[in-house]
Amino acid sequence: MYQVEADFINEKKVWEALENSKNTEPKQVKEVLAKAAEMKGLDLNDVAILTSISSPEMLAELFDTANRVKETIYGKRLVLFAPLYISNLCANECLYCAFRATNKAIDRHALSQAHIAREVDVLIRQGHKRILLVAGESYPKEGLQYVLDSVKTIYDVKSEHGEIRRVNVNVAPLTTDEFKRLKAANIGTYQIFQETYHRESYKKVHVGGKKRDYNWRVWSLHRAMEAGIDDVGIGVLFGLFDYRFEILAMMQHINELEEKFGVGPHTISVPRMEPATNSDLASHPPFPVSDIDFRKIVAILRLAVPYTGIIMSTRETAKMRQDTFALGVSQISAGSKTNPGGYEEDDEISGQFSLGDHRSLDEVIRDVASMGYIPSFCTACYRLGRTGQDFMDLAKPGDIKLHCAPNALSSFKEYLQNFASSETVTVGNELIQKSITEMDGIARQRAEKLVKRVEAGRDDVYC
Ligand code: SAM
Ligand code: SF4
Repeated sequence: MYQVEADFINEKKVWEALENSKNTEPKQVKEVLAKAAEMKGLDLNDVAILTSISSPEMLAELFDTANRVKETIYGKRLVLFAPLYISNLCANECLYCAFRATNKAIDRHALSQAHIAREVDVLIRQGHKRILLVAGESYPKEGLQYVLDSVKTIYDVKSEHGEIRRVNVNVAPLTTDEFKRLKAANIGTYQIFQETYHRESYKKVHVGGKKRDYNWRVWSLHRAMEAGIDDVGIGVLFGLFDYRFEILAMMQHINELEEKFGVGPHTISVPRMEPATNSDLASHPPFPVSDIDFRKIVAILRLAVPYTGIIMSTRETAKMRQDTFALGVSQISAGSKTNPGGYEEDDEISGQFSLGDHRSLDEVIRDVASMGYIPSFCTACYRLGRTGQDFMDLAKPGDIKLHCAPNALSSFKEYLQNFASSETVTVGNELIQKSITEMDGIARQRAEKLVKRVEAGRDDVYC
């Protein structure tokens, strides 16, 4: 079934919606923003109208509405994670990526399990609790078992400084049976980016290997969900095609998953193309996305799917990352390396693409905290089985704040006590105090209780 044309990505409908949104009046934009403020999501035509915004006044209104929705649902918390590249072996030819098979300019490695454990140890010592495992599409002779073993290795590393509590995975699409094996390895979210939903552009930039098959990739989350993985992440590589088209087509993908499985994606990633070793395409994206359009993309997604996490990586600069926290981003990576083995020993040339933010985890945390955002290392939902539909049921009425806010504070306190520099401790403790004072009711009681338990020496407390 999953070889057939994926008719849920209907390009004609996308173009029609975009055509109909031309010459949109400010009144129509305001109506859509009023609907968005109710936090029930938007349909394809609404989203098309938002993509047509260009005047500074309307953009300001869009940003303001996105900010209010973000703060109502997520409060000030920002979840932190680190990517862990276990291998840059790849059999595909994605013209924008340094890992593509014919690129001779990078050193190739698939880390041994012992090496992975050492990388994880470095991340644990920095204070990380969540890892996103990343690999090219070609594994050593063990095949998929290499990825499964790697997940186990990551969970098994225990040190006096703690352990990794959630492993998300971004690897090439699998069969349903293989996804079942991945699920059994106890992963958190499985994420995969379609790169571009525009079939013709997809064909032009994927010129070798299995990834040439658009349909195999676009059906992959159906297979993952059928295999029981109910937290899935989607994304587009912005720069390959018109961002307006991509947002609408991604909405079609989201609607399809909601219809078929009763729950949409857990996260959306918004990678923007960055230069990559030996790639002309990556240095000259065919549809470059300006900084202002990039902010617009984040704000529109926040309004279109208010309860879906938005992930921003260190591809972007510190400034862009800061701007987009206010518009909808809820998860960020920090202190990242994109070359296998890069945490122990860095070699940027062999990375997947260039990074825009090179700061350490401690620096990012201090910065985030001084802006009033609470860095969160919480992994409670996944560990208490609040995933997929259960997560959405809890998230939709806003109850998640009763869990997320206290858990963010206790996990942040744990970070401050065990890993932070003295400057970060000062900024962080002030923020924790201020945040508790601003809370009330059950959330405040829970936060006070959890933070006290951490102060008393307990780690890993959550509700
Ligand atoms: N190899 C698997 C695949 O392609 O699905 C999974 C990992 S791949 C390393 C992760 C993501 O990196 C890709 O889906 C793509 O969106 C992103 N990426 C590749 N080249 C990039 C570039 N030059 N700039 C930014 N992101 C890039
Ligand atoms: Fe390989 Fe993924 Fe890079 Fe494509 S994006 S070359 S599949 S690692």
